[in-house]
Amino acid sequence: MKVVVIVGGVGGARFLLGVKAALGLPPIGEAEDGAEHEITALVNTGDDVWLHGLRICPDLDTCMYTLGGGIDTARGWGHAGETWTVKEELAAYDAEPSWFGLGDKDIATHLIRSRMLRAGYPLSAVTEALCARWRPGVRLLPMSDDRVETHVVVDDPDEQGQRKALHFQEWWVRYRAELPAHSIVPVGADESSPGPGVLDAIGEADAVLFAPSNPVVSVGTVLSVPGVRDALRKTGAGVVGISPIIGGKPLRGMADACLTAIGVETSAEAVGRHYGSRQTSDEGLLDGWLVSSGESVDVPGVAVRAVPLVMSDVDATAAMARAALHLSGVDLD
Ligand code: GDP
Ligand code: CA
Repeated sequence: MKVVVIVGGVGGARFLLGVKAALGLPPIGEAEDGAEHEITALVNTGDDVWLHGLRICPDLDTCMYTLGGGIDTARGWGHAGETWTVKEELAAYDAEPSWFGLGDKDIATHLIRSRMLRAGYPLSAVTEALCARWRPGVRLLPMSDDRVETHVVVDDPDEQGQRKALHFQEWWVRYRAELPAHSIVPVGADESSPGPGVLDAIGEADAVLFAPSNPVVSVGTVLSVPGVRDALRKTGAGVVGISPIIGGKPLRGMADACLTAIGVETSAEAVGRHYGSRQTSDEGLLDGWLVSSGESVDVPGVAVRAVPLVMSDVDATAAMARAALHLSGVDLD
């Protein structure tokens, strides 16, 4: 079976652990002898940023470390057993930006990536090379090899009456998404092309799932790459999304600030309607939508099911993934 999952960082990576388990694969690492199922993750790269001359790809790295067994599980991002010597030395130089935590081990990943990019390798090839070490057991495909960076338009915190576009990371990490966003724009998306394998994976899939990732700056950014929405509308696979919003709140993080910025209410129903029906609307993408148990949600033209949606451990997440695969129409038995 071929399963495609559209993902961001922490929420996406945790969900992928469950998809692997649901298909009988080891959640961490690779199956020993050639797996019969193939999982492809289409990963958001709109969070990517150059800092201190290094190319950082937060969502790709979170997926790679999580699935490869190297993540700091308490934090949800970065390496387990990380140290921060370089960060402290940069601070001693007053080097900006100081708000982004780059761990020593993590920096090795960014050094290799930056060196390969400067030598002319596309991000997809760099990711494959890094995954040769981590062996995530999932094909991690950057949504695009082109530079796409999410920017957020806010009232300038330093210059009253002026507006300013911040890189998403600065808005999210430095300002904790507390500066109200006027708009959120994936800069460069219009001119970008899908990464190698992205459209083929959607076309050849038996099931396509939207992880319970941020609908605006994770899934939404992947959907902003030209050709992706069209491929989703045409694929023979069932397309099913999982709500990141439970009881009107995001489970972790500040996705509500992103939804407000694009004029979508923070509710499972509003997010489901935002993705829309593949069958009864001209632009919609979903056949099925999973919401949290006890919620009664109506998305016209979409099959809605309510199941437990908290990814408390791999077993609970695998049950979610099984429910999503079942709703997409594939037979797991
Ligand atoms: P990021 O790139 O690291 O911000 O992570 P993602 O975009 O992949 O995922 C963030 C989203 O995951 C947030 O909007 C959360 O609401 C959602 N999320 C986190 N944990 C859970 C969970 O246990 N269940 C569900 N349904 N959503 C979750
Ligand atoms: Ca992210």
